[in-house]
Amino acid sequence: MNKIDNIVLNTNNLCQKIKEQTENALSCGALKSIPTEYELIKDGEIDFLVRIVTNLGRKDKAKKKQKKLGKDFNPFLPYEKDLFVADISDTHVCLLNKFNVVDNHLLVITRDFEEQETLLTVNDFAALCACLLQVDGLGFYNNGKIAGASQRHKHLQLVPFPLIPELPKTPIDKIIETAKYEDNIGQVSCFNFVHGIAKISTQNSNNILEIAQQSLESYQDLLKSLKITISEEGKPDSYNLLITREWMMMVRRSQPKYESISVNSLGFAGALLVKNEEQLKTLKELKPLTILEQVGKFRI
Ligand code: AMP
Repeated sequence: MNKIDNIVLNTNNLCQKIKEQTENALSCGALKSIPTEYELIKDGEIDFLVRIVTNLGRKDKAKKKQKKLGKDFNPFLPYEKDLFVADISDTHVCLLNKFNVVDNHLLVITRDFEEQETLLTVNDFAALCACLLQVDGLGFYNNGKIAGASQRHKHLQLVPFPLIPELPKTPIDKIIETAKYEDNIGQVSCFNFVHGIAKISTQNSNNILEIAQQSLESYQDLLKSLKITISEEGKPDSYNLLITREWMMMVRRSQPKYESISVNSLGFAGALLVKNEEQLKTLKELKPLTILEQVGKFRI
């Protein structure tokens, strides 16, 4: 069994800390939420949650600022103290996402610099699972630029349920229940892109070490099943990873966007984001599942 670095997260007050820190960060201007409207767009059996940004000004400004600071600027080292939520472990801290679209969007970042594109470790899973046990939601990881990541410093993310009042979990939870399993890896017939699903169970255990170890093993099984190879520098082929209290899904990636519509892990959970009405029109014409097929890898 892998060694897990000490978890220091208090087991019962993360929700309270998020609430308090959000109020502080909003009042001092550190948190720059991005306003959106949303529509549910049906494709096959899935009601995709499509958010339409109504004012991207803040993030665009920040992107320009980051460009000016140079490609090596790292917003997580040091992180902004006003966005700090909690120490999770010897290796990870929890922050508020500065430019959140979803309320209470959390980042789980490594304390020291690690490349986003290196393989996830048991400490990464322990940190994410420690948060997931307190905040029921969707954990995810964009493994690199092609998978939708914008920062090089290793970060996992967690968005709490419900994403919108009409949806208890993700738009794909019902479809995940229809997965057919072979050797413990599931596939969904309407996903024509390379993917794999693993069942995980956080219900019967409060033991983070056990859950992290189990998650790591599922992750390794998925990497193998999707035939993800690792380069000599330790970089795997591009993929997205989604993780809830019940299941984990991995998707291989071929490109970051299709017809101007960028997709990260959330897209594969059925939650897409468009920047304007024009993109919304394109998305409706192309259909969400087709966009996912195009940015994933076609399943034969
Ligand atoms: P990703 O784009 O998936 O790599 O996730 C990185 C996230 O970090 C983005 O969603 C940004 O909104 C967020 N972000 C950028 N700068 C900061 C910052 N200074 N503090 C906290 N979050 C940030």
